[in-house]
Amino acid sequence: MADLTLSVLRRDGDAFTEALTREHYLAASGHKPNADLQSIYKRFAHILGPAALELTRDAFRSSTPNSEEWRSARALLDWQVEAYASRELAELDERVIAWEAGAVVRLPDGGEVPYQRAAVDMSTEPNRQKRLALDEARAALVGRELAPMRGERLQRERDLIESLEIASDYISSFEALSGVDLRGLATECERFLRETESMWADVHSAAVKRQLGIAPGEATRADALAMMRAPQFDPYFPASEMEPAVKRQVSDMGSDPTAGGRITYDLAPRPGKRSRAFCAPVRVPREIYLVLLPYGGATDYRTFLHELGHSLHFAFMRDDLPFEFRCLGDNSITEGFAMLFDHLMHDPGWLGRYSALGRPRVPEYRRAAAFEELQFLRRYCAKLLYELRLYGGDISWSSLPDAYVDILSTATTFRYRAADAFIDVDPRFYSARYLRAWQLQASLRDVLVAQFDEDWFRNPRTGPWMERELFGEGQRELASEMAERVGAKTLSFDPVIRAIEAGLTAS
Ligand SMILES: [Zn+2]
Repeated sequence: MADLTLSVLRRDGDAFTEALTREHYLAASGHKPNADLQSIYKRFAHILGPAALELTRDAFRSSTPNSEEWRSARALLDWQVEAYASRELAELDERVIAWEAGAVVRLPDGGEVPYQRAAVDMSTEPNRQKRLALDEARAALVGRELAPMRGERLQRERDLIESLEIASDYISSFEALSGVDLRGLATECERFLRETESMWADVHSAAVKRQLGIAPGEATRADALAMMRAPQFDPYFPASEMEPAVKRQVSDMGSDPTAGGRITYDLAPRPGKRSRAFCAPVRVPREIYLVLLPYGGATDYRTFLHELGHSLHFAFMRDDLPFEFRCLGDNSITEGFAMLFDHLMHDPGWLGRYSALGRPRVPEYRRAAAFEELQFLRRYCAKLLYELRLYGGDISWSSLPDAYVDILSTATTFRYRAADAFIDVDPRFYSARYLRAWQLQASLRDVLVAQFDEDWFRNPRTGPWMERELFGEGQRELASEMAERVGAKTLSFDPVIRAIEAGLTAS
């Protein structure tokens, strides 16, 4: 085999990502019965093996910190480390996937629910006793069978990454590879939890009393799933209006919603199409798919806007950026753009103009949406704090379930279950990317309002600016660097808190 160089790695990395994403798109959208991933991995084995890992590790170590070479090497090494762990853990992952596909939750009354449907059933079950019984049975099954496998995966992944000696331990290795200061972010999360504590206690206890008729301390995470659904607004978000309304808004903003034909909207029903929405950046920036099965309802609109943000980001990226800045890098950026668009669902001007909600109902909807967001964000802050404990090594593995229940229940006021301590964990600190993205979208919104007014989303000057200043740059920068470049304040939760307060008090 010819010598592996960084330019070969870039060229074949591009081809590998395209093949893998295309296969994933075709299978998940129902165009193909199964994804044939094994042959792709075999074809590209030369860029996924020890030689590629070694090459990128050397490049990272030998480049000058903060230089352009170092930035490239960091993204490439981060990718290689993930590929290495996935390869080593492939067999365990396949066991977990097979378990999840076949597991059945058995209820005391003899009823059976496929494991994968349990969460949806809990959120739609109006009878609280039935909901809790389902959660009880689910947690018992998970604790017995899934938790040991997931716990093993977490420990093995940690050991694998630490053995690469990128930094002194798992957390520091992640920080070195991602550029995200996890411990600094955790301090911000603690402050966010403190600063929104009394606001949350007020809205949580009022909502629990009103919706469930029980004392606030009794409500569980299963109750939270049911409470957050808010189906009463669904009629005002009809499936048939979603695509035309959102495309009209992007056009009003001075952008082409198809990015010159590079984005394909795959919204048609098809046998075998997965119900979960996704964006498939097959060939960035030339061939992007936004895939969704529209049912209608507020959640669908939000998901569509989220995937649209990803799609516009990929489709308007500069073609001449190297592979690592188009396809790799800090995902807080793409998640930040996705959230910038899904947060239009909190904007009274946007709701009044592009949904069927009607202005009189907007304040009530905004209050419900802000309640859901505050719950979600407090949960994510707690997840990061817990995940740092999990990998920190200063509490024993057997004490982690108690720590999980304590941290998550305290932050959300919903009671969590110990069985989920190794299940409810985002791989490789993805929770940190989401938290940074939350901060980024709020900061970008402030910049957009200052430059293009409150209704920036329909100002024809906004789109061209976004394409050039935001989407075009790909993921060469970290979220914090991008915010600084476009004149936003240092990333923090302050603008997020302000927006949530405005939503909760909307009238
Ligand atoms: Zn996303």
